[in-house]
Amino acid sequence: MSTANIRFIGGGNMATSLIAGLIADGYEPHSIQVSDPNPERRHALQARLGVRALASNVEALDEAETLVLCVKPQMAASVCAELAPFLAERRPLIVSVMAGVLEQSIQRWLGASLPIVRAMPNTPAMVQTGAIGLHASPEVDAEGRNRAETILRAVGLVRWVESESRIDAVTAISGSGPAYFFLLMEALEQAAIELGLDTETARLLTIQTALGAAKMAMESDAPPARLREQVTSPGGTTECALKVFDAADLRALVERAARAAHDRAVELS
Ligand code: NAD
Repeated sequence: MSTANIRFIGGGNMATSLIAGLIADGYEPHSIQVSDPNPERRHALQARLGVRALASNVEALDEAETLVLCVKPQMAASVCAELAPFLAERRPLIVSVMAGVLEQSIQRWLGASLPIVRAMPNTPAMVQTGAIGLHASPEVDAEGRNRAETILRAVGLVRWVESESRIDAVTAISGSGPAYFFLLMEALEQAAIELGLDTETARLLTIQTALGAAKMAMESDAPPARLREQVTSPGGTTECALKVFDAADLRALVERAARAAHDRAVELS
């Protein structure tokens, strides 16, 4: 893998997942530096992943070719202002995973039209099974897109969107999506207990069914609708259950929920 120097600002959960993913993909730990004010975080990053962890954001910039912004959105303005004087000449590729922070805000705080890739990962990135939306500002060239994609691909599946506003749709689907599936799992697990299964069996059967369905959907050429039809025999048990979902108009409910998440993402950015 390319050894372009990557610098992470903020060494929390998302940065740790990305760094662990990159190293698992064969990226050299010594070409990664990370800054975080929290000494325990720094110690953990150094001990667990073998990367250089620094207290100073500016020191961590040293020879940066790609800069990954991994601080909380509310820290974005002050962190960018701190880094701005050191970036204008070097012009590294900026990759931001900060939810709801617009590219033009980052450029304004940095005081320069630097190439920015905005990424919207989700929590399964922690287990290298994330679903990630990416958008590139006009300043990003093909090599920059490639570099950003390589970093995010270390923690999951990557899809580009051509308009930054579509990141709000990504937020509503894959960003918030894990919670929708967890809710469905909770409900199915509860139903299993009501039907007499013990708690552990209820939980394991539910989770494995979700995993199996997702794996089949990912590996099959057929769309989920076709897979659903294939497991629904006329007059059978699955059909009875699906009729109950249809009577409650589950599809309309899901669409309303996703739209509510989308509208909130627009409000927050
Ligand atoms: P986190 O709280 O685990 O990590 C943030 C880190 O930033 C902390 O370790 C903190 O010590 C450090 N920090 C605080 N002030 C700093 C400063 N001035 N300079 C440098 N570092 C500083 O949060 P996280 O979950 O890793 O989220 C990081 C970013 O990723 C957020 O902007 C969030 O919106 C985005 N994100 C996270 C997820 C997720 O699943 N965790 C999903 C999508 C987007």
